[in-house]
Amino acid sequence: MKHPTLVLIIEDDNAISRLLALSLQQNKFKTLVAKDRHTALRELQTRSPDLILLDLGLPDGDGKELIKTIRTMLSVPIIVVSARNDEKEIIASLDAGADDYVTKPFSTDELLARVRSTQRRFLGLQKSGNIITCSDIVIDVEQFSVIKGNQPLKLTPTEFNLLKYFMLHSNEVLPHMKILKEVWGVGYQHEMQYLRTYVNALRKKIESDTTSPEYIQTELGIGYRFVCTSPA
Ligand code: CA
Repeated sequence: MKHPTLVLIIEDDNAISRLLALSLQQNKFKTLVAKDRHTALRELQTRSPDLILLDLGLPDGDGKELIKTIRTMLSVPIIVVSARNDEKEIIASLDAGADDYVTKPFSTDELLARVRSTQRRFLGLQKSGNIITCSDIVIDVEQFSVIKGNQPLKLTPTEFNLLKYFMLHSNEVLPHMKILKEVWGVGYQHEMQYLRTYVNALRKKIESDTTSPEYIQTELGIGYRFVCTSPA
């Protein structure tokens, strides 16, 4: 990258923001701290952060509302850092436009891994043509073909669309309802069993061990994450 990544930390707890800033700085990131919504919006207008770490509980308003506001202005990646181990809050944040989440307490390594993968995803959004690659899986959107290792895989159209959606959003946490809406369409958002069935079918075709999946990982109570080990 041409310049050090600037991370805007929106957090009202000084101890936490200091810890976040320190671990990021030690890993060659530049940081900026805003303690409330108001300051955050001002910083966003004057600086242009490459990534945002956002605490959901802010003194002057809910973090989810802030995500919506930011999304009307910028496409900068947002990672929610939340004390609330509340699935509903996390899902609402992702629906509002957050890209990922970490719940407190978290390890520095975990946080850095999330920051890096979110960043990589943003930089790697320019997929080359019709070919999408993830680890040893290659799909050709035009040809409807899938190759894993050197073996062609036979997928049904729905399995193919699901895999394509996963691969286009690799390493992102994808809530059940979002996947259902994007792959099956509006009206299917609540068909959890439907999704589970297709995920199981797809796992049988792409995972070497369906009991410990390497690609389609379950995010308990939230959805799935399609893991790519090499940046696509
Ligand atoms: Ca807080």
